[in-house]
Amino acid sequence: MSKVPEMFGCMVFNDKKMQERLPKSTYKALKKTIQDGEPLDISVANVVASAMKDWAIEMGCTHYTHWFQPMTGVTAEKHDSFIQPNGDGVIMEFSGKELIKGEPDASSFPSGGIRATFEARGYTTWDPTSPAFVRDGSLYIPTAFCSYTGEVLDKKTPLLRSMERLSAEAVKILHLLGKTEVTRVVTTVGPEQEYFLIDKELYDQREDLKLTGRTLFGAKAPKGQELDDHYFGSIKTRVAAFMKDLDEELWKLGVLAKTKHNEVAPSQHELAPIFTTSNIATDHNELTMEIMQKTAERHGLVCLLHEKPFAGVNGSGKHNNWSLSTNTGENLLSPGKRPEENLQFLLFLAAVVKAVHEYQDLLRITVATAGNDHRLGANEAPPAIISMYLGDDLGKLVQSIIDGEEYVSHGKERMQTGVDVLADFKKDTSDRNRTSPFAFTGNKFEFRALGSALNIGCPNYMLNTMVAEELGQFYEALKDAKDMDAAVQGLIRKTFIEHQAIIFNGDNYADEWVEEAKRRGLLNLKSVPEAYAHFMDQKNVDLFVKNNIVTEAEYRARCEIELETYCKQINIEALTMIDMARKDITPAVSAFVRELTDTALAKKALSAAIPTSVEENLIMSLSNKLVCFVNKTAELEDAVIKADEYAGDNLAHAAYFRENVFAKMQELRAVGDSMETETAAEYWPFPTYTDLLFSI
Ligand code: ADP
Ligand code: MG
Repeated sequence: MSKVPEMFGCMVFNDKKMQERLPKSTYKALKKTIQDGEPLDISVANVVASAMKDWAIEMGCTHYTHWFQPMTGVTAEKHDSFIQPNGDGVIMEFSGKELIKGEPDASSFPSGGIRATFEARGYTTWDPTSPAFVRDGSLYIPTAFCSYTGEVLDKKTPLLRSMERLSAEAVKILHLLGKTEVTRVVTTVGPEQEYFLIDKELYDQREDLKLTGRTLFGAKAPKGQELDDHYFGSIKTRVAAFMKDLDEELWKLGVLAKTKHNEVAPSQHELAPIFTTSNIATDHNELTMEIMQKTAERHGLVCLLHEKPFAGVNGSGKHNNWSLSTNTGENLLSPGKRPEENLQFLLFLAAVVKAVHEYQDLLRITVATAGNDHRLGANEAPPAIISMYLGDDLGKLVQSIIDGEEYVSHGKERMQTGVDVLADFKKDTSDRNRTSPFAFTGNKFEFRALGSALNIGCPNYMLNTMVAEELGQFYEALKDAKDMDAAVQGLIRKTFIEHQAIIFNGDNYADEWVEEAKRRGLLNLKSVPEAYAHFMDQKNVDLFVKNNIVTEAEYRARCEIELETYCKQINIEALTMIDMARKDITPAVSAFVRELTDTALAKKALSAAIPTSVEENLIMSLSNKLVCFVNKTAELEDAVIKADEYAGDNLAHAAYFRENVFAKMQELRAVGDSMETETAAEYWPFPTYTDLLFSI
């Protein structure tokens, strides 16, 4: 297919197809549900289901699946065929009930202890705000997932609820400000996705990549990213073919894939879509990650989504560009030409500033994973300290409000290229600050601390909820004001004064910032266990319970699940290292030492005059290191066994894994990598960093 507009969305049961295929009244009823959140009638669902099925069968489908996002961090699907017995044969049927509700056996999905395994049942419920689509002969229906007794067990439900909350509070504020025509506010998200591509044959030779998604051993290649020659560099043929295929697959599924380029590290790339509602953006990002992996396979490649597949070069993140827009088409974070006079903008900005300051711990927690711990604070990603960047102009405006002084805008400057054939253009009023975790970028905030593999549902439900909470507080403070303008101005100033500590426009990578942030009372939570120690802080529990996003039990379950996942991941990494150390590295180094020894002995037998110092030095060095390596392998194994003592207390268990198991893994790796640099290539049991990063 060559024509993109025709290809786009051809696998999606989108608005156009609904209009074509549904009776007018059904279409209208469904639209009301999608746009205004009105409950859906079963008779409407029956008609929609039948039309969906007819379309899906035309598209070659035999099955349908409720597609959901349990707490595993990946999507889940269970396929049922449309067949219904009919006399001797079958007919293809799909009812409204089947569309609306599914009952997957939920016993093996993580529930954080809120549900016993004998209560195996769970429900999936159709989310009509995210369109159904066709993939590999099945009709995919995006759904939310809960337990038989109604506990929320997925990533979508809290997100949908948080969007509703934010809309309700934002609309109330807008009505106070006189914008009574606004009836709904949606949160929008555009997630930029980074990834690595490596050759499948090489990948298959690395147990660590296969089991953990990252290299657990591997000496640095002589070349890394120091020449900056990969970033935005010309895209290699094999990668370009992959990207073209990927774009087409995504377009067919209605994903607005827009930008693609090479990233900083060798073999690292990025894809950015055009933004859409948080809910669809989340589904699409999950889909994008899956399609990336499947498309890579077809090209003899493997797409690595781990946050840190290779030590010594940049890892992969995800930038969550986030904003708010009204059903009347207004972006609430757009400052307009005269932000100093735009009270509405300043009020929403103040709400975000207050939210990020008060819930900095939650923002840190929501990006905390075993993989992302390798990046945050490592001068390749924002630090573990959450702060906000407003840029020069907005920063000055906020400062002038705090100081009670008049603000003089200098407007947009023209950029002069100084070359006649090149057009002059308007310069953005502030440069980009690439080091800030939460940066204002013109008409949206860019939350940059996310890891590449993360489901963006979690950071977004937290962000939406905290901003909804602040808007709710603002509404209470303003609702009875006699002079609304004066009250709003006062509230904006008060908020900026009280929360200015979270605003930092400088270099987040600088050591001085760590000190400065401490003086300001900002948190610096360096790892998963340190961050999750704040998860159950009362103010955080209150935030979600009060706003009806999750119950306290559901909230606690989320904490337990994430901590358990962390422990399991480090445990798997440690066991994989031990396996590689014992079965591959130790025998390989030993064999090489033996060859060196044979060579030295043969030389000596030939003549005592032949020098054998090269062999002897290497034998000495490698033999010493091997002793150390074998000892450290045993120490790591001990550390893993002792971890069991902490089972039962997930936070203590996670802290133990971080402080003991992970620390031992680092030590073991250092010795292993050092032996790699002294061992002959033909003896080394795995493809090297040079092979992995520079072979495509
Ligand atoms: P960067 O300079 O950070 O690499 P990109 O242009 O690659 O920026 O990505 C910016 C992302 O921000 C895109 O996904 C874009 O669609 C998204 N974006 C733009 N406007 C909004 C908005 N109002 N709400 C949410 N996301 C937005
Ligand atoms: Mg970005």
